[in-house]
Amino acid sequence: MKSIALALALVAGTAAAAQDAPGAAGSTAAPAPAQPQPSKTTYIHAGQLLAVPGERPRGRSTIVVRDGRIAEVRDGFVAPPAGAELVNLSDRYVMPGLIDMHVHFYSTGYPLQARLNATTTDMEDELLTAVANARRTLEAGVTTVRDLGGEPRGVRALRDAIARGEVAGPTVVNAGRMISVTAGHGDANGLKREYAHIEREDSPHLCDGPDDCRRATREQIFTGAEVIKFAASGGVGSNIAGGLEAQMTPEEMKAIVDTAHAFGRKVAAHAHGKSGVDGALRAGVDTIEHGSYLDNETIALFRKTGAYLVPTMHAFESVIRQGRAGERPAASAAKAEQVATVVKESHRRAFAGGVKVAMGTDSGVGPHGTNGLEFLYMTQVGMEPMRALRSATVDAAEALGRADRIGRILPGMDADIIAVSGDPVADVNRMQNVDFVMRRGVVHKLGGQRQVFPVR
Ligand SMILES: [Zn+2]
Repeated sequence: MKSIALALALVAGTAAAAQDAPGAAGSTAAPAPAQPQPSKTTYIHAGQLLAVPGERPRGRSTIVVRDGRIAEVRDGFVAPPAGAELVNLSDRYVMPGLIDMHVHFYSTGYPLQARLNATTTDMEDELLTAVANARRTLEAGVTTVRDLGGEPRGVRALRDAIARGEVAGPTVVNAGRMISVTAGHGDANGLKREYAHIEREDSPHLCDGPDDCRRATREQIFTGAEVIKFAASGGVGSNIAGGLEAQMTPEEMKAIVDTAHAFGRKVAAHAHGKSGVDGALRAGVDTIEHGSYLDNETIALFRKTGAYLVPTMHAFESVIRQGRAGERPAASAAKAEQVATVVKESHRRAFAGGVKVAMGTDSGVGPHGTNGLEFLYMTQVGMEPMRALRSATVDAAEALGRADRIGRILPGMDADIIAVSGDPVADVNRMQNVDFVMRRGVVHKLGGQRQVFPVR
């Protein structure tokens, strides 16, 4: 028995190390590399450098990247020494890699089609689609995501393969499955008896009552979740009528938040209606996803708790379009119309009212790889362009609890760097055409072209 326990402890220790220091995970493969290592120092000449979004750009600069980290940032164009590589972005606007706080790599939108596909696809098919979605997202300039709900072991495997350098994609902070009450936004609503039965056989994320919700939270952590997501209110996407107000009791929400925080996990609450948003804020969540109905009382509550709003405007645009095109079940289409009338005003009020905002698209509801549209949508309801850029870098990093590693181009930070042509502060549409992407020092896109990904 002792040796089994020891072996398990070792396995657990290895997994934890891989999460904390993904770059070091490759060292578990013992054989020496067959080919000489490529140059590990890169000099980037940036025509304009927005090192810290929210502050003034610092003009022509040279970023020195060594072993996946930013080693130095210097004024002007410094010639690289012998053996170092030069990336010429002297006519580009360079900034930190983007953080999207809300994606679903396992989802591809269009619920009616997805229901048909579900009868003909295995989870292995879905995983490979998730791999492609991760790459599309990276090539849109997103170097870190939170995956807020998908096949938990599949997303965990994708997260670790990206961290090992075997698959091209953004750094993933994964939620496992969204915790929900029975018949709530995360249940298998509207499926026929046989399919519903299969779903319910494997639904540790469903909970009723605070004790059960503590169990469901621990189940997600057991399966590898780094962040906890729960459905505080009804959702637009679920195939069940019954509105968008709170589905969980205050006690259930509190049980989830306290359990997650005890394990050092931040908590994201899916919440549309006021009772859902207010309940989740009072329970102490770290981020509110969607936030469709926000009045002055709710905005004051945001400011008091310090929680971030993740607006997911990209998803709202998508569900309304899909509903009107007949691509959503009737119950879902009706809820899409219900939120369409209020959500933009809510977000406008929140942006003006001093609510902290972290960018998130909910890609998977809409298409993957068009994350840059979120900047257009946020600025259309009154957010200043520079604040929109900050929401996807400095502020999102803070909301993730990783501000010491990502979100700014400063010595010691991860070399997650992107570039666009033109000035995105003058024209946020520039963010839809990211043509240079470096993640942890590896160039994935240059001059708008996909680069060969050096699998370690
Ligand atoms: Zn979502």
